[in-house]
This record gives sequence, structure tokens and C-alpha cells, in this order.
Amino acid sequence: MRPKWIGTGWKMNFLLAEAEAYIAKLRDYFRSTPENTVTVFLVPPFTVLRKVCELAEGLPVLVGAQNMHWQYSGAYTGEISPAMVKDCGADLVELGHSERRSMFGETDFTVNKKVHAALTYGLKPLICVGESAPEKEFGASLESVLRQVKIALHGVSMEHMGEVIIAYEPVWAIGEGSTPAEPGYANFIHAAIRKSLAEMCGQATAERVPVLYGGSVNLENARKLISESEIDGLFVGRTAWKAEGLIELVEIGATALRIK
Ligand code: PEP
Repeated sequence: MRPKWIGTGWKMNFLLAEAEAYIAKLRDYFRSTPENTVTVFLVPPFTVLRKVCELAEGLPVLVGAQNMHWQYSGAYTGEISPAMVKDCGADLVELGHSERRSMFGETDFTVNKKVHAALTYGLKPLICVGESAPEKEFGASLESVLRQVKIALHGVSMEHMGEVIIAYEPVWAIGEGSTPAEPGYANFIHAAIRKSLAEMCGQATAERVPVLYGGSVNLENARKLISESEIDGLFVGRTAWKAEGLIELVEIGATALRIK
């Protein structure tokens, strides 16, 4: 059985004191739950990335950046390189979130460059993919999602494929006022992503790639979503911006693992 993952992206939120308070609560939780079975990750903003990496040391928590450039260094004012992300102590990097695609000019092709850069510098790329509302309405969800997956992973070696994490985040499901995907619908897309991965790198390696769901996950719908056969975990925004929310989701993930 594949492991279960619970992670949260903090977006443009969290000052230093808030990040410290959040990690303190997580530390208390893991102290009282040493048998934790769920893979947990945090994706804070750059300004607290190094601090969160330091504070999370010794905790069963991976930490990642929300974006990065693909070049090692150079004249790219305002950008952060893979070497800098690694130097902060990060384990992973989120790439291609729909907000970066829609507001900051991220494309399938820049995501591909960043995926290669991440793997070169020993960072796990957490690749966000998802169809827009019109694509869903016009029956092109699978085409859109699989195109994003294929271009993101183009040229990635078999050896590196096992380091990749995919987050399926339908654009219409993300953020305030959006509708979460039905668990069955998300599972159908996840199964198609896994099939596509298997075509690229073989079934055994594809089985090692966590495919997470994100988009309006809350404490009511999390259990059903994470219990679906092809959903390996949840990538969560608002519900996990309080440590208590993340902890409840981790408990839900642990229960799903026990029941299987
Ligand atoms: C996200 O932005 O990646 C996300 C999943 O947000 P939310 O859970 O708040 O919909």
C-alpha cells in the first residue's frame, strides 16, 4: 500500500512569529504521537523558509519552497535559485501552482525547466496540475491535466521519477468560494495520471509517485477524499493554515491508512 501524505502551502501568509507558533504546536503534537505514520510537509513563503527548516529539524516534516528559478545563479533580480532553496535546508519545491500559472506567467515549459533544476539540486518537485473551469465544462479535463503532467516530466530520468510528487488541483476547486472536487471525480483523474506515469516510467516506478489532491479540502470532505484508492494524500491551503487543522488532517490520514 502506498503511504499517505498531508501537506500545506501557506501562500503569501505567515510572519515569523506565526510560523514559530505553528511549528511549536506541531512539535507538541509529534511529541504526543511518536508513532505518526503520515508523511507531512509544509510549504512556507521564502521569508521564513530557512527558519521553518531549522525549527522542523528532528520532526517528521518535510519543508519546501513555493517556487524557484531554474538557473543556479545570475542576473535574475527578485528570483530565488534552486541552490538557494537547497541552502535553506528545504526538501522540496512546489512548482506550477495555478496561481503562478494564471498571475505570474508560469507555463508548462517553465515548469519543466524547474522540475529538471529541482532534481539536479536534490529537491523533490511537487508539481501542481489541474484543469480550468472552461476546460472541465468543454470535456477536456483529462487532456489538460495529462498535457501538464507530460510536459512537466519531459526528459526526466527513470531514476529521478521516484522523487517526483504530483498534486492534482483543479483550478475551479482552489480557494475562497470554490467547490471541492467530488472524491470519485478526483479519483478518476488520479487514476489517469498514474496510468500516464506508468506509460512514462513503468508501473513499479509510477507506484512510487505520490499523487495528492488539492482544492477546498476541509475537515468534512478530507476523509472521503483520502480514502479513495488513487488519492495518496491531500495538499491543503486554508484548512491547514492553523496547526490544529493540519493536525486533524494528519489524524484523518492515519485513520485512512489503518482502515486499508
Ligand atoms: C491551493 O491553493 O493549493 C489550495 C489547495 O487551496 P485551498 O485548500 O485553500 O483551496
